[in-house]
Amino acid sequence: MDYKELADKIFPNVKEIAYYEEKYKKRDLPEGAIVTRYAPSPTGFVHLGSLYQVVIAKKVAKQTNGVFFLRIEDTDQKREVENGVTGILQSLKDFGLEPDEGMTDEIHEKGNYGPYKQSLRKDIYEAYAKYLLEQGKAYPCFATPEELEEMRQKQEAAKIRPGYYGVWAKYRNLSVEEAAEKIDKGESYIIRLKSPGREDRKIKHHDLIKGNVDFPENDQDIVIIKADGLPTYHFAHAVDDHLMGTTHVIRGDEWLSSVPLHLQLFQMLGFKAPKYAHIAPIMKEEDGGKRKLSKRKDPEAAVSYYTEMGIPKEAVIEYLLNIANSNFEAWRKQNPDASLDDFELQLNKMSVSGALFDIVKILDIAKTVISKYTAEHIYEEAYKWAENYDEELKNLLQDKDYALKVFGIERGNVKPRKDISKWSDVKENIEYMYDSEFFGREIEYPYQKIADPEKVKEILQKYIQNYYAPEDDKQTWFDKIKDLAEETGFAREVKEWKKEPEKWPGHVGDVSTVIRVALTGRTNTPDMYEIMQVLGKESVIKRLEKAQEFLK
Ligand code: GLU
Repeated sequence: MDYKELADKIFPNVKEIAYYEEKYKKRDLPEGAIVTRYAPSPTGFVHLGSLYQVVIAKKVAKQTNGVFFLRIEDTDQKREVENGVTGILQSLKDFGLEPDEGMTDEIHEKGNYGPYKQSLRKDIYEAYAKYLLEQGKAYPCFATPEELEEMRQKQEAAKIRPGYYGVWAKYRNLSVEEAAEKIDKGESYIIRLKSPGREDRKIKHHDLIKGNVDFPENDQDIVIIKADGLPTYHFAHAVDDHLMGTTHVIRGDEWLSSVPLHLQLFQMLGFKAPKYAHIAPIMKEEDGGKRKLSKRKDPEAAVSYYTEMGIPKEAVIEYLLNIANSNFEAWRKQNPDASLDDFELQLNKMSVSGALFDIVKILDIAKTVISKYTAEHIYEEAYKWAENYDEELKNLLQDKDYALKVFGIERGNVKPRKDISKWSDVKENIEYMYDSEFFGREIEYPYQKIADPEKVKEILQKYIQNYYAPEDDKQTWFDKIKDLAEETGFAREVKEWKKEPEKWPGHVGDVSTVIRVALTGRTNTPDMYEIMQVLGKESVIKRLEKAQEFLK
C-alpha cells in the first residue's frame, strides 16, 4: 500500500485539485492590483479594530484597482451566531465599506471565486488535504483526547515546549498499512500536516507593516482537517487565499506568530504565498498602562456604538486613517475639502505598535465633518438617525422647512458653525428654537454680567418698544442694539469700554447677552440675528415678554 491508496481510502470521492485550479482562473487585473479580504467568523459583531482593518484593506484594493472581498470563516462552529453574516454586512454597509465580492446575506453571494463561506467549501479542502496525503505531507492521526492530555502533562512536567511535534507526534510515522488497518477498524482520526520544519532553523519574513522578522521554522504537525470534517483556520485560509487570488493578507497582528506555519503551508501545497501585513491593535489607556480595546469592557469597541451615537461614518473612517498613517494629518491640513479617496494610504507607513484610542479626537473630526454638510444633508442624516433612536427628535423634525432654517443658521459660509459632533447632540442643540419645547418646560435665564432684574427688564422693554424690527438687515439690527446699549447706560462699542472700563458698567456685548438669554435661555448660541430671523416676530416678542414676566 502507498500514500495514494491511503489517501483514496480516506477521501474516496473528492475531485483532483486540478479541477479547482482550472475552475478558479487567475484574476485578470492590472499590474500591481491588490486583492485582499476581510475574513471574520460569523459572530455578527464587528470590532473597531476589525473596521480599521477593513478600511485599510478596502482602501489599498481601491487604490490599485484591485478587489476587496468578504469571506466568512465559519469552520469553528462554536463561534457562530444566528444571522451573524447579516450583522457583519450591516456594519460594513453602515460605514460604506461594502465588499466587491462575497456574501451578500446569510445565503447569497456575488463573485466568481465562491463559495465565500468556508463551511460550503468542504469538498475543496478535502481535495487539497488528499493532495497532501498522496505525497506523504499529511497523515491521519489517531490520538485520543486522553493521549493528547497525557502528552501535554508530560511536556508540562518536563518544562518543554508544548505541542504535537517531533518525538511527541505519535502517529506521524505510522506505516500506511497500520493507518489503513486502524481506519478499517473504525478508529476515529483527524488529518495532520507532516511538518518538515525544524525549530532550530530560522525563516526570514518581510511583513509589509512590521518589516523584517525572523522566526523559528514551524515544526508542529498541526491539524488540517478536524474530527468534524472541517478544516482548521490555518489550512482553510491557505487554500482559500490561493484559490481566491488574494495577493495581500491584511489582518490583526495576533496572527503574526502564525506566519512560519502559514508560509510552510503555502510551500507544501505548492502555492505562491501572498504578502502579509499585520496591523497593530487599537489600544486603550487604563491605569497608566495600555491594553487592547476590548469587546467585553469597552462599549466603543463595537462599531454599532458609533452608529447608535450618530457619529457620521466619514468621521470614524477619517479617524482610522488618521491613526493608520501619521502623514494623514498634514495631508488633511493641506487638503481640507478633499475626499478621503484622494489620500494615498501606505502600508509601510503604518505604525508597528498600536495607536491609542481617542474618542475626543473622533468627535472633533466629526464636528469638522458635519460643519461642512449643507443644512439639507444634516437634516437627512439627523432624521434618519432619529427614526431609529430618538422619537422626540423625529417629531421635532417633522416640519422640514423650519428645520432647514434652523440647521441653516451660520452654515454654508466660510466659517460654518461647529457645534454638532453627533446626531445625538442635535436635539439639545436645536430644541430652544422650537416654541413648543421652549415654552413647554421650565425656563432658566442665566443672565450674566447684567443681572439686576430692573436693568434686565428695562433693556428688554426698550428693545421691544423702540428697537426691534423684524425687517431690519443685520447692520441696522446691530446698530440698534448699540443705540439701546447707549440709552440704557452701557458703552456702545466694546473697544471704547476696554479703554475706560470704569466709565460704564458694561458694553453692547453685555446688553446683547441679556437679549440672547431672554430669547433662548442660553448664553451661548449661534448668530443671534439669524436666530431672530428664523424664530420670526411673533415668537421673538413672546419670548421677550415671557422673560419680563419672569422677572416680576
Ligand atoms: N477568521 C480569522 C479571524 O477572524 C481571519 C484572520 C485572517 O484575516 O486571515 O481572525
